[in-house]
Amino acid sequence: MSSERKTLSRPEHLVTAGLVPRERLAALRAVADRYAVSLTADLAELIDPTDPIDPIARQFVPDPAELEIAAGESEDPIGDEAHSPTAGIVHRYPDRVLLKPVHVCAAYCRFCFRRETVGRARALSPAQLDAAISYVRAHEGIWEVILTGGDPLLLSTRRLAAIAEALAAIPHVRIIRVHTRIPVVAPARVTAATVRALKRAHKAIWVVLHANHARELGLKVRAACARLIDAGIPMLSQSVLLRGINDDAQSLGDLMRALVECRIKPYYLHHGDLAPGTAHWRTSIEDGQALMRALRGRLSGLCQPTYVLDIPGGHGKSPIGPSYLAHAGSTGGACRYEIEDYRGGRHLYPPVGEP
Ligand SMILES: *Cc1c(COP(=O)(O)O)cnc(C)c1O
Ligand code: SF4
Repeated sequence: MSSERKTLSRPEHLVTAGLVPRERLAALRAVADRYAVSLTADLAELIDPTDPIDPIARQFVPDPAELEIAAGESEDPIGDEAHSPTAGIVHRYPDRVLLKPVHVCAAYCRFCFRRETVGRARALSPAQLDAAISYVRAHEGIWEVILTGGDPLLLSTRRLAAIAEALAAIPHVRIIRVHTRIPVVAPARVTAATVRALKRAHKAIWVVLHANHARELGLKVRAACARLIDAGIPMLSQSVLLRGINDDAQSLGDLMRALVECRIKPYYLHHGDLAPGTAHWRTSIEDGQALMRALRGRLSGLCQPTYVLDIPGGHGKSPIGPSYLAHAGSTGGACRYEIEDYRGGRHLYPPVGEP
């Protein structure tokens, strides 16, 4: 299988593959001692070695800037710990939980929001997994289970099917959502057996792909997504707003269009979380809002994600705009608004002259 061909999981592998010059080896070893490093053969193939700021290479090749911790950054940036009633479960919202059966990924994003936990412990033990599933069974308000990690599609199809079946047996669980980067980083791992394993649940399955740049969506990746979608599994996407990767209107728009062309509906654009050593990746929220306006002004409604911030401390995700609506006083007790159109024009609502 191509993903097993030659995973580049040590800085010296990256040097041998020609992705980093030998003189940077010592600096990269210092990063690799601290945070997991891995780049699949499929990703290496997508990289243009003549491009010094290749958007694939930059997302996966470690950088000494990762060792600089900025003010406000935290080992648990979105407060998962406080909402974890049992190993592998995060229960923040009443109707849905995260279930994290594995803590490893096929490739490690340098801006990962769970970088302090991924790549360390491999997976939940069978007893921990049983306890996690018992937790879901015991809480009737849980309507949706989100498999995440790490990357749940790294599980063997046998283990994936076992989890799907265990969840299928819980009547109040109606939706199983899978958060994954596997179709991008190791597309050959999405097989007919993967589809069969997911469909064992006989529940509504949704797959959410993590992708940040149009160049990630090569032919093999598109084919992997089509294998899921053609089997009746709808796909959404989540992207992280990343400085120098997708923080210009052209790159972000190209990404959203490429996703929709693959029949993947853009779902979330995440503002960068305060994970340690990721300040060099973050934009300002103002810049993010300006990009969202640019998307709204240029592209189909299908291409519009929701721009969200995961509030530090475990308070959940909130949309962070921009807002097109402002109060414009009141007349005769009724509120008036000023509403902005997609070209930036402003209009009163209800229109002037109406009662
Ligand atoms: C992000 C997240 C979810 C999913 O949120 P949606 O807005 O439904 O996509 C659920 N639980 C936790 C703990 C999360 O962090
Ligand atoms: S795929 Fe997700 S969990 Fe894995 S390294 Fe990337 S951001 Fe982190």
